[in-house]
Amino acid sequence: MPLTVKSRRKRSTRIAVTVLSGVLPVLLGFAILYMQAGRALQQSTEQTADEALRQFNLMLDNTAEAARVLLPLAGNSCNDATLALREQVTRRPFVRSTNLVYDNNLYCSSLFGEHQEKVNPGDYTQGQLWLMNGNPVTPNTALLVYRLSDEKKGALTTLDGYHLSNVLRLIGRQTSLLLQVGNHWLAADGKVRDGALPVLPVAQSVRVSKQYAFTVAAGFPEGETWRYMSSEYPPLFSLLIFFGVVSGSIGHILQKRASSPSVELQRALEAGEFIPYFQPVVHGDTKKWSGAEVLMRWSHPKEGLVRPDLFIPFAEHSGLIVPMTRSLMQQTAALLAPISASFDSPFHIGINITASHCQDLELVEDCRTFLGAFAPDSISLVLELTERELIEPTALTHQLFEQLHGLGVMIAIDDFGTGHSSLGYLRQFNVDFLKIDQSFVAMIGADALSRHILDSIIELSAKLDLGIVAEGVETQEQSDYLTAHNVNFLQGYLFGRPMPGADFINALSHH
Ligand code: C2E
Ligand code: CA
Ligand code: CA
Repeated sequence: MPLTVKSRRKRSTRIAVTVLSGVLPVLLGFAILYMQAGRALQQSTEQTADEALRQFNLMLDNTAEAARVLLPLAGNSCNDATLALREQVTRRPFVRSTNLVYDNNLYCSSLFGEHQEKVNPGDYTQGQLWLMNGNPVTPNTALLVYRLSDEKKGALTTLDGYHLSNVLRLIGRQTSLLLQVGNHWLAADGKVRDGALPVLPVAQSVRVSKQYAFTVAAGFPEGETWRYMSSEYPPLFSLLIFFGVVSGSIGHILQKRASSPSVELQRALEAGEFIPYFQPVVHGDTKKWSGAEVLMRWSHPKEGLVRPDLFIPFAEHSGLIVPMTRSLMQQTAALLAPISASFDSPFHIGINITASHCQDLELVEDCRTFLGAFAPDSISLVLELTERELIEPTALTHQLFEQLHGLGVMIAIDDFGTGHSSLGYLRQFNVDFLKIDQSFVAMIGADALSRHILDSIIELSAKLDLGIVAEGVETQEQSDYLTAHNVNFLQGYLFGRPMPGADFINALSHH
């Protein structure tokens, strides 16, 4: 079956497409969440760095202010200045000690009073800030020294590293936050280290103070994005998985729909893959060609020529049989109409119809168009309706058959003998022909009982004044028997197999 062979062959592709349509949205959603997490972390480090910068600036403002107040005292005797030095330590928040310098010599300190120590301006970044790892009083405790100078005068004010590491720890929380002054940097653990700032691999934000010579860096260690996602996004992950399943299912359903028989038939119809084959019908007596039955074939691009019983049931079920038959009639007319003027007596053209054709009056128009294509009276159109699925006689069907007869269209009951149509039924629809099913023809030469059934059908049709066509005539014996019993028309491989239009026209010219 082309319709199932096709879907079986593409099974692996279908599974792949289903999986992809489920997985792709999940992957895409995941990528978006990853980017979103990156952005959230970046925003967080930027805010943290900004806040730390603000705090450090604020602290240094105090040391700078103390230094500014004290600078004029530099050069004065230490005794006179000690009080002022201590006052600044007491008054100014964050200021731990104050010192006076003259000619690069620290000579007076709030802590010791008079004290001598060399000052090297080169220790200070931009001559202004020095981040030290403690001093002799508090070794291994960070200390930030602020230097202000005016020619030989100088003031040094210090800021306790405890405040600095507090800020780093409190503002930073989950973020790694570092304070850098020149070649030294301080982390939240309160330790001052030398060298360049370490790179913070995730969402690093660096802020440089405009007022003072320091830099703040915030960021996260490796793997923070995943950690953040796994703590913040579990509900979104569930949603993603849900969408993945929904989208996978939709993909699966759409594919099933796309590979469903009716979609495939519709595609084939649009692609013009349904083509007519013609099987000659001959006169019972002379064996001359009296007409042809049009049999549908599906010229499938991959499966080749497909027999009608493999797809007609689907076509009937989906209602597509109506446009398919219309296309068949159009192709038949296009092939035969040009030679129709040469037919010397009306040429019978049999078209198979189904119950779906009898649900409205469209068929009348199709037949009118068909007949209109041929030379007047050159053909007689016979609609073959199988006895196996007879239609209900309704007002509509009566109207339909009346109008068809009005056009000169004839009706044949196909596969006669396999169903159970009553005499009344045959009369009601004004049937013109009975087509004896090939199973009865095949009985010729067999037992007496089978032959008896065949004889009764022939007898019945003679009584009802109906034309008879015998189908499936394959042997000379069958042909002779049917001719001897006055069967009007014969059809079967003995006289010709169904053939493409061009072959049929070619053969017709020889008859
Ligand atoms: P059917 O209308 O009874 O058509 C006769 C079938 O018998 C055709 O089969 C034909 O090829 C086959 N046949 C003719 N002579 C012989 C013979 O000597 N021996 C044997 N064994 N078979 C013979 P096909 O073409 O395969 O069509 C099968 C059925 O499909 C048709 O049976 C008809 O019911 C349906 N069909 C074909 N074309 C159409 C169509 O256009 N519309 C509709 N609705 N049904 C169609
Ligand atoms: Ca038929
Ligand atoms: Ca038949």
